[in-house]
Amino acid sequence: MNQADDWVVRTAGQVRAEGERRHPGETPTCASGISPSGPVHLGNLRELMVPHLVADEVRREGVPCRHILSWDDYDRFRRVPGGFPPEFAEHIGRPLTSVPDPCGGHQNWAEHFKEPLLESLDYLGVAVTEISQTEMYTGGAYTAQIVTAMRRRADIDAVLGRYRTKRAADPDDDDEPQAAAEYYPFKPYCASCGRDDTTVTGFDDETTEITYTCACGVRAGPTPIAQVAGKLVWKVDWPMRWSYEHVTFEPAGVDHSTPGSSFTVGAELVSEIFGGETPLHFGYSFVGTSGSAKMSGSRGGAPTPADALEIFEAPLVRWLYARRRPEQAITLAFDAEVGRVYDEWDALARRVAEGDASPPDQAIFARASGPAEGPLPVTPRPLPFRTLASVADITAGDQTQILRIVRDLTADDPVRDLDEVRPRLDCAQAWVTEYVRPEERTQVRGEPDTALLAALTDEERAALKLLADGMAAGWSLDGLTTLLYGVPKLQRGLPISAPPTPELKAAQRDWFKLLYGLLIGKDTGPRLPTLLLALGQDRVRSLIGG
Ligand SMILES: [Zn+2]
Ligand SMILES: [Zn+2]
Repeated sequence: MNQADDWVVRTAGQVRAEGERRHPGETPTCASGISPSGPVHLGNLRELMVPHLVADEVRREGVPCRHILSWDDYDRFRRVPGGFPPEFAEHIGRPLTSVPDPCGGHQNWAEHFKEPLLESLDYLGVAVTEISQTEMYTGGAYTAQIVTAMRRRADIDAVLGRYRTKRAADPDDDDEPQAAAEYYPFKPYCASCGRDDTTVTGFDDETTEITYTCACGVRAGPTPIAQVAGKLVWKVDWPMRWSYEHVTFEPAGVDHSTPGSSFTVGAELVSEIFGGETPLHFGYSFVGTSGSAKMSGSRGGAPTPADALEIFEAPLVRWLYARRRPEQAITLAFDAEVGRVYDEWDALARRVAEGDASPPDQAIFARASGPAEGPLPVTPRPLPFRTLASVADITAGDQTQILRIVRDLTADDPVRDLDEVRPRLDCAQAWVTEYVRPEERTQVRGEPDTALLAALTDEERAALKLLADGMAAGWSLDGLTTLLYGVPKLQRGLPISAPPTPELKAAQRDWFKLLYGLLIGKDTGPRLPTLLLALGQDRVRSLIGG
């Protein structure tokens, strides 16, 4: 991959050049839009990460760049999301900021869902300039644009008409023409009931007075449109904002870029009606997840950025988005893959530190590590995630035990305080608690398995004695690893450092199976050296009959 293939560098260059051409001397703008209509999922995070990476690259080059987050909080409340009381259905048709807060701690429904996303963005080092569409619309910011759109309604209708096909009626599409009535691109929120079950019945191009009726029975107007609550329909609203905010770059999900989509239509309207230009644009692919069902099961639905940040350090979450090109789909794993993701990340960090990383890998690592302002906090002593997960699992979270084991694991330069292995330890702990099924967790035997001990062969008994006798002298991760793999060698009269053979490997498998059986009553489990360190010498001795 050379620089021209690096989509972040390439797009950042285009943003600088286009920004300067369109609005000389102005800070270029990258845009994201989120509807706070329910929990904001990990898929929606791509809507923020793609512009962030580009805006951040511009800033890395020493040029200011604005990243706006348009909250579509003046959109109508369409449906009650799963897990919320059905009584909220009463508010369908009202702006999201007019729907009551479901928990009672926020100003309204929209704010309830904004807060967790903003918190996650803060952890991720994603700095945005928030724009509330409720504030913009109700504050009159768009009045001139609304009047223009209403006066040019026939032209807008003609553009939309070119794309209206016989496709099945889309319930989310709010620009469908009302049969046999004149087209209006503005939808009032009823002055009486607050809902948008309204039909515009007239607009005076001279006085800008509007009249409308509502399903609740109200007949309103004529009233100057500046005094009427309401908003432009989505396909007109989006290009209006490109023009208003001087948006230089705005990506969107691939589904927005198909022929007849809001982007294609908006691209025509922005120049024809609002005298602006289409932003630089490309579609980004989907974000999927695997193994994301939480054990606590308190809340269904797709995982959120906060769920991901519970088990991944913030730079890893940035990396999961930064390492893929926009057209590539992303799958975020919450299952056993998590350990592999951490291992890959640690390997990348080592290559970068040792100067062995390729230039593209270095660039991706820098973007993942933090924004242009500086790197995000990291775990000072990044022990392998799988090891920490095993420790959290075996100890059931007991902090004193964890510290003892982590010290033994780092015998050469012992960890003094668990803060040295945080936040990774907390991530591992959360992962074990939330995503490892109870039957997969490690249950250390309370009492020795007397039946199994009584049935041991002489060879097995001898192997256990070699372990019991050698344990104290080699009580460290390296020492125990050598001893555990070495026992079958010693039994065959080979030196402990003898190279593995197929026969030895088979013997080692049987030997490990025996130990797992005696210690945790299963055939497999966490890595045995970690498990032994976790149990301590006395407990191991008692369980292996030594
Ligand atoms: Zn709330
Ligand atoms: Zn009404």
